[in-house]
Amino acid sequence: MADADEPMVVDGGSGRTCEWDGRWNHIKKFLERSGPFTHPDFEPSTESLQFMLETCKILVIGAGGLGCELLKDLALSGFRNIHVVDMDTIDVSNLNRQFLFRPTDVGRPKANVAADFVNNRIPGCYIILEFIYPSFIHLEFHIIVCGLDSIVARRWMNGMLLSLLVFEDGVLDPSSIIPLIDGGTEGFKGNARVILPGMTACIDCTLELYPPQINFPMCTIASMPRLPEHCIEYVRMLLWPKETPFGDGVVLDGDDPEHIQWVYQRSLERAADFNITGVTYRLTQGVVKRIIPAVASTNAVIAGKSAYIPLNNYMVFNDVDGLYTYTFEAERKENCSACSQVPLDLHFSPSSKLQEMLDHLTESASLQMKSPALTATVEGKNKTLYLQSVASIEQRTRPNLSKTLKELGLSDGQELAVADATTPQTMLFRLCFTS
Ligand SMILES: [Zn+2]
Repeated sequence: MADADEPMVVDGGSGRTCEWDGRWNHIKKFLERSGPFTHPDFEPSTESLQFMLETCKILVIGAGGLGCELLKDLALSGFRNIHVVDMDTIDVSNLNRQFLFRPTDVGRPKANVAADFVNNRIPGCYIILEFIYPSFIHLEFHIIVCGLDSIVARRWMNGMLLSLLVFEDGVLDPSSIIPLIDGGTEGFKGNARVILPGMTACIDCTLELYPPQINFPMCTIASMPRLPEHCIEYVRMLLWPKETPFGDGVVLDGDDPEHIQWVYQRSLERAADFNITGVTYRLTQGVVKRIIPAVASTNAVIAGKSAYIPLNNYMVFNDVDGLYTYTFEAERKENCSACSQVPLDLHFSPSSKLQEMLDHLTESASLQMKSPALTATVEGKNKTLYLQSVASIEQRTRPNLSKTLKELGLSDGQELAVADATTPQTMLFRLCFTS
């Protein structure tokens, strides 16, 4: 600790001017001696701290709920060369848990404010703003830590790291691997995982773990409600369009207090009919807006775990009711569309419509694409079969969706190239005709 008589020099960027005796003692206890819980391959050394302080370059993606915790944890652990990226701006609703932000910061970019805060508060730490495109590939990060709320962005990052792998005669060059530590939280649940791209299970290998949003079955909502949510869904889906309380064609607006009040009152009546308790105004708004409340403590736990590297390799955490956590080894999927290097087969009949193929790419649990763009080489020419993201091309290629694969000139064994927001790379598929 700093001597009380000597003012501590706080320097937000130049590194060495701000050390004081014993500053890293607590970190050294972990790095310079062994213990009963250390990894078998861990070798205590004084070099680890030097590496962390001087060499190690970390990229943190996301400066939101998890990101604030991660930046704080990393900076206090001695990492100084931290880069951060986040495209979002600060909203007043973030302030209860995204503790690097103050009310005067509302509207400002999260990454800037978070970097300024940590750099000012933690002497010697130097957080740099980063923009994913296109420079960061050349920055040679040692580790990438993700605290994102978007599966698409995670998959994109995963695909980016896979694209950086170098293979020599089919053998992976380990120096081309950048470890990805990924954390995610949702309410009282969270997970942290370590991914060594090309070696251990990647995000897409375990894509089935992110199920599409659960909707309650209509029969439950209509006739057998058991949960307060069922009552609210009943009012939202059935009563609102039937009774049109605010006039014909007025869409239920989750941010309009009068709308929510109406749904809340009717949900209470419905709940009373079935002896269900627990309908509140907050829950009503949560169900209508599909909000899962973010919980600060979950972010803290997940960020803390994410900083522990030998995790092998997937930890889940849940404190909805008591506390539950365990770790398992997620396995690589042999034919993972992102990391297996095996072109995936698509099985369709020649008389299938292109629309069916598109539906498969977006709905299959292992692919879950967002707006795939399909191209193929037909009669020696590169042909765009369908592309959604550019309006003029969408219009021009839309008629193809109702054509059969045969009509489009595709043949058995044909290679199809698919681009999507979930990966920076173009994915190759092989068309296999079924009869
Ligand atoms: Zn994979």
